[in-house]
Amino acid sequence: MSAVVQGAVPGHRAGTDWTRPQLGSETLALLVAAYLALACNGAFWSAVEASGSLGGAAAITVISLFVMLTAANWLLLCLLSGGRAAKPVLAVLLIVSAMAAYYMRTYTVYLDPDMVRTILHTDAKESRELIAPGMLASVLTFGVLPALALWRVRIRRRPPGRALLIRAAVLIAAPALLAVAALVSFQDVAALLRNHREIRHLATPGNYLVSLARVLAEDGAAKNRSREPVGTDARVVAAAKREPRLLVIVVGETARAQNWGLGGYARQTTPELARIAPINFGEVTSCGTSTEVSLPCMFSPYGRRDYDKDRIRHSESLLHVLDHAGIATLWRDNQTGCKGVCDGLPFESYEHADDPAFCDAEGCHDEVLLQGLEHRLDGPGDQVLVLHPIGNHGPSYYRRYPAGFERYTPACRDAELGHCSREAIVNAYDNALLYTDHVLARAIGVLAARPDRASALIYVSDHGESLGENGLYLHGVPYAIAPRTQTHVPMIAWLSPAWLAQGGLDLACLRERAHQPASHDNLFHSVLGLLEVSTSVYDARLDLFAGCRRPALAAAAAP
Ligand SMILES: [Zn+2]
Repeated sequence: MSAVVQGAVPGHRAGTDWTRPQLGSETLALLVAAYLALACNGAFWSAVEASGSLGGAAAITVISLFVMLTAANWLLLCLLSGGRAAKPVLAVLLIVSAMAAYYMRTYTVYLDPDMVRTILHTDAKESRELIAPGMLASVLTFGVLPALALWRVRIRRRPPGRALLIRAAVLIAAPALLAVAALVSFQDVAALLRNHREIRHLATPGNYLVSLARVLAEDGAAKNRSREPVGTDARVVAAAKREPRLLVIVVGETARAQNWGLGGYARQTTPELARIAPINFGEVTSCGTSTEVSLPCMFSPYGRRDYDKDRIRHSESLLHVLDHAGIATLWRDNQTGCKGVCDGLPFESYEHADDPAFCDAEGCHDEVLLQGLEHRLDGPGDQVLVLHPIGNHGPSYYRRYPAGFERYTPACRDAELGHCSREAIVNAYDNALLYTDHVLARAIGVLAARPDRASALIYVSDHGESLGENGLYLHGVPYAIAPRTQTHVPMIAWLSPAWLAQGGLDLACLRERAHQPASHDNLFHSVLGLLEVSTSVYDARLDLFAGCRRPALAAAAAP
């Protein structure tokens, strides 16, 4: 302690040592709140500017927004920190906010509850890819250095009664300040929040703190809740003597329709599939812009048209309905799990697989998922095998394919996409699609090698990807404002001649149907229809195959 402080009269202010200033914890929180509004909200301010909502008095609106943001941050910080915990809590928030600011600025990431859930469920391998030198430098400058400065501050000790009074006053003053600032530019601020609601997911640290609280509350509630049964009346109605069927469903990952060769992309990114000519559904819309949203949604009976995240998360999935019908299911995963879709059902993870042909320390290429596929064709009953590949998961697209698939060069070989040209990013992304094409073609090849067996494969991507259009990268933009690149996804279906004959399906009709719009909502009902599962939750209007089934053909094929 300095001489100045030691010599101070008790009860008088002793803050004249400027190297270690003394502040009340509320004043310190206010300073940090203002700092965060200025230094860690670049994406927010860019979005405000791009929104076009700043009217004639733009400067006043910007000042209003700054005061609002500071007041909101102040309120949050005072709710979360106080007394002895003030400095550690504020230091952690500074560092986390600097990290959040980097990703929001670099990739335009909106930190809504879906994104926070994705981050919480990211595995170590994926996280490593996201830690780039640029991120570390940014966090050091905008997070660690201010945190060190904050550490120099001495928190003023107050008698408990007085401390409580001051805290209560701040908890009233901060919302009041926010309200007054909002009123000053009411029209502009109201227009901004009405027309660009998603902008709130860019306001740091409120965005990740509120989202985190919501995710933890939802997950806590989910733990004590069992899944609502779906389709418990399901049963297979096909002729008793027909051959067992094997349906392979490949879901994901991050493939967008704009770069899909079969969909007419200028580059032939699907040369092997083009030779097979499966049914290509060209106008498919995803349910979400992230794996966390799309996977549960596409396997649920509710889908995007009746979207209710809570209901979907707490209901059984398509795989449970198939299980009720006596069809064996297996989820094989080369990614971050089935997101609840396969709860209680057979699941195999290849996360720690060590097959030297496909895996190294960084993980496995997707062909690892095809191991033993040929043996499944001899299964005793109907089976559904779901493959969950890592596909085109970014930002390290170049890690998603073996060297032999690097056809488009130069390919970006940096996890920090900002270091690469757009051309190099697209090259790496397209190379990864070439490999997905190869994996799908190989899977179909295994099935087609046994023409006597009724087998089929459906592939649909879980969401698309932004590759720098309008400054956007990766995916996960809130659905309401998501660009088409993140929601327009490739989908194909291939059916063996035996399945087409048994099911009475008209291939030409299916190819025609595939030109019409479809979505993830169709998956649930199409799979039930394809496997001839009768259940009250099946809706033929959403079955992509129903309109092309010829009852006469099906009857003739039946023994
Ligand atoms: Zn995904």
